[in-house]
Amino acid sequence: MTRKDRLTQEIAAREADLVALTQDLIRIPTLNPPGVNYREICDYLDRRLTEAGFATEMIRAHGAPGDSDRHPRWNIVARREGTRPGACVHFNSHIDVVEVGHGWTVDPFDGELRNGKIYGRGACDMKGGLAASIVAVEAFIATCPDHAGAIEISGTADEESGGFGGVAYLAERGYFSPERVDHVIIPEPLGKDRICLGHRGVWWAEIETHGEIAHGSMPFLGDCAIRHMGAVIEAMEAQLFPALAARRTDMPVVPEGARQSTLNINSIHGGEPEQDEDYTGLPSPCVPDRCRMVIDRRFLIEEDIGAVEAEVRAVLEAVRDGRPGFDYTIRELHRVLPTMTERDAPVVAAVARAVAEVFGHAADYVVSPGTYDQKHIDRIGRLKNCIAYGPGILDLAHKPDEYVGVEDMLQSARVMAFALQDLLSG
Ligand SMILES: [Zn+2]
Repeated sequence: MTRKDRLTQEIAAREADLVALTQDLIRIPTLNPPGVNYREICDYLDRRLTEAGFATEMIRAHGAPGDSDRHPRWNIVARREGTRPGACVHFNSHIDVVEVGHGWTVDPFDGELRNGKIYGRGACDMKGGLAASIVAVEAFIATCPDHAGAIEISGTADEESGGFGGVAYLAERGYFSPERVDHVIIPEPLGKDRICLGHRGVWWAEIETHGEIAHGSMPFLGDCAIRHMGAVIEAMEAQLFPALAARRTDMPVVPEGARQSTLNINSIHGGEPEQDEDYTGLPSPCVPDRCRMVIDRRFLIEEDIGAVEAEVRAVLEAVRDGRPGFDYTIRELHRVLPTMTERDAPVVAAVARAVAEVFGHAADYVVSPGTYDQKHIDRIGRLKNCIAYGPGILDLAHKPDEYVGVEDMLQSARVMAFALQDLLSG
């Protein structure tokens, strides 16, 4: 029997364990925000990985956004050395999940198994991927105890709120540096036969238009900031949205609709603050003297972030030229540069070979429309040999009745184990 046949057998024999592990992880509700039960899930992973021969470290992201004694940002990094020198393969999973939301027909934190699917918040994004990577690693160690190099598994906080108390914090402290780690696989739910090379860029900004407050019965004595913002939106509709839609990328972004530049108007608010729901009075008659809009611009690897910003400013300047009394300010809130790992990078090649062996067809290469923790590994860690690969259907992430398929997890675990064999047995 070949080593790969033995790996396949080892993983098949672990099906019940994989299901139980996934259920256990779902049953620890790590809702973020505010970021709860991080210590509990890290303790659980600590017990599991210590048993598998890993040395573990618990790292709290002191002072990171959101970290407090009430809601501490705990992370776990586990490492197991092989018997001889070689590369280090790191599996990184975020341990947080997003809010439950409405529309569930099952208990979101019960981990119910029904017709080969495990249901729950985080099942697909991404506790199923975390469980699959642990089982893959354990099966690999069982068949190849004398492997070269090292294996690391991390469970990190706060990916859903930017990753600053998780991967960014660890990357700043050298945990994702080329001196320590060679290959990174993030088991996000991109699909079992797809390799995600990276993501588009992000530019968030807040635009504010200024007006002048006056009595609402005499609007001509004031200047309406909301009408000014209306002119901005009109100009965006006429020029910016069509220009963005026409700008296509060579990045293989999925879904197809995201294979272009996009802009979302995230929020808009003008005039007096909204009152609490229990306020029963009427509003007061005022001309609004301010209106704020948050925009979320997603850009392509072919675009320069300076040009992205200049294009929005040009729209505002054009409105100013044509509109008496128009005045605005713009403030950047957040920026992330796009990233895309080369297709011939070693971790891409190893996972591509493993996908071809498990599924009998070539892997699809994709790019994520939104960002994930690869941004910190790339920018802070300076580690370019990184991909997202894991089980689950991306469209189910953050939805009600989220689930992960057991068969998908088993197949993904085989791919991960084959890739380990490829990278660490030489
Ligand atoms: Zn995720």
